[in-house]
Amino acid sequence: MASNARMVVVGLDGATFQLIKPWVEAGQLPTFARLLAQGAHADLRSTLPALTPPAWTSAATGKNPGKHNIYNFYKVSDGGTGKLPLTPADLRSRRLWNIANAYGKRAGVVHLPLTYPCERLDGFVVSGIMTPKGVEDYTFPLELRDELRAHVDGYRFDVDADALKIGDLRAFAADAFELQRIQTAETLYLLEHKEWDLLWVMFHTLDKVQHFFWHLMDPAHPAYPGASDLGDTILRFHQLLDQTLADILARLDDDTGLLVMSDHGSCPLESYFLVMNWLEDTGFLRMKGGSRSPLQRALGGMGLEARGVVQTLRRAGLGWVPRLVPSRLKAQVPLARASFARIAPHIDWAGTRVYCPSAPGSGLRVNLRGREVQGTVAPEEYDRVCEEVRIRLLAIVDPKTGGRVVRAVHRREEIYAGPHVDNAPDLLVETADPYCLIEGMGPAAIVQAGQNDGERTGNHLREGIFLLAGAGVRRGVALPTLDICDVAPTLLHLLDLPVQEDMDGAVAQAALTPRFLASRPVRTDQLPPPPQIAAVEMSDHDRQAIEGMLEGLGYL
Ligand SMILES: [Zn+2]
Repeated sequence: MASNARMVVVGLDGATFQLIKPWVEAGQLPTFARLLAQGAHADLRSTLPALTPPAWTSAATGKNPGKHNIYNFYKVSDGGTGKLPLTPADLRSRRLWNIANAYGKRAGVVHLPLTYPCERLDGFVVSGIMTPKGVEDYTFPLELRDELRAHVDGYRFDVDADALKIGDLRAFAADAFELQRIQTAETLYLLEHKEWDLLWVMFHTLDKVQHFFWHLMDPAHPAYPGASDLGDTILRFHQLLDQTLADILARLDDDTGLLVMSDHGSCPLESYFLVMNWLEDTGFLRMKGGSRSPLQRALGGMGLEARGVVQTLRRAGLGWVPRLVPSRLKAQVPLARASFARIAPHIDWAGTRVYCPSAPGSGLRVNLRGREVQGTVAPEEYDRVCEEVRIRLLAIVDPKTGGRVVRAVHRREEIYAGPHVDNAPDLLVETADPYCLIEGMGPAAIVQAGQNDGERTGNHLREGIFLLAGAGVRRGVALPTLDICDVAPTLLHLLDLPVQEDMDGAVAQAALTPRFLASRPVRTDQLPPPPQIAAVEMSDHDRQAIEGMLEGLGYL
């Protein structure tokens, strides 16, 4: 069977039909228009949380996080008082490229998360987001790095998030476009010069651009500053990706299918929900020193003591500054990028029942006795505490809009299934779309987004995109929503390989023609469990480099 023997997957992190379809209608994205007309598409429902590492891992494994064990960028450490970035050693499942290899197919994996340190594949790897800045061994085989440097003009590895730390959006945009040009050239080189049956490339920069430029294009956003020359940044970035897709399509033969997909969508982010503030206000969390002034809390959230800062300013002859700065400082609190690591030493654990060790993961942990190093909640109280915090979260109303801040609160057993559910947070907070959990503490639990340059004003929407084209694919059809776990089984089937029985997803048969399905019925099989990936001892330097990179993007 020759048809669709090979597959290219182009991952566009954060791509949403909410933007793409109107721009297609307006004639701005001709290649997306062509793919919509010639292929089958659907909204693709992401994981909870709708976050890059768990979502791409569910796409690549066909499994929910309870089976693959990736819930966030981080896992908790030190009995709940610390956190560590995840590495491939935390994975508990084969990903699509491992399965393809096991059945004799070659795979190329480019810029997917959790691919550093690189696996030894029958094929090649260029690692992606969560690779420590400055490392040199970001490809497998290692010589591929030098090959890319030799053949791709200006080749470099990642976006420079430093511009964001100082709020320089113009510099960040220039860097993002340049990096996309490099990654497009890299993709075309690999596509033409390497052997592969599955080539899966992921462009992460779209998500970054949408996070930081949304308010500039959206007059309805509370932080919209009026028309500016940066207002069309997100559209222009889509046009660059549209050309990338055209360049890829021009190089595919009739036997090669194309899936364009995202791990989640994007939408406006209007307000930050400072969940640790809320937990303190409601008595679930206690900070050392008891209730403090907004300024003290703001500074504490940055890991500073107000008195120390004031003394330092006085010594510098700037004692008048604190009288003038509080309102400015209050506005800057979410941008203060206060990580849990800085807040944790100020937590009074004996008076704390619930805490949030990592906001991007949207998870809360009960300070459970016997599990947390300074646990206070007895096991028999666990259910009651979970229900109490759930009820109170669901009751939060934004005083500014009168709307609910939290859409749903899930117990981990309600949304995950598998042998690794115990590694999930106890509660998963699903905010309403214009809100996003923030890790730092500030003067209020709800703070308007985008009051300073370099703050996130775009949010993750749970629905991403699925757009499939090639032989055997129905043309011009819109399908009901698919689940992100359907991606891996669908790709296996298109590669003419058996779907794995332990996958949660299913082949998206509605996307395929009856004739193709009749000629190629879905087969199933089960490979033995994968060998445990040897635990990667990452150096403190590398961990800090990953944390610094994530922090630069606001993923504390
Ligand atoms: Zn993402």
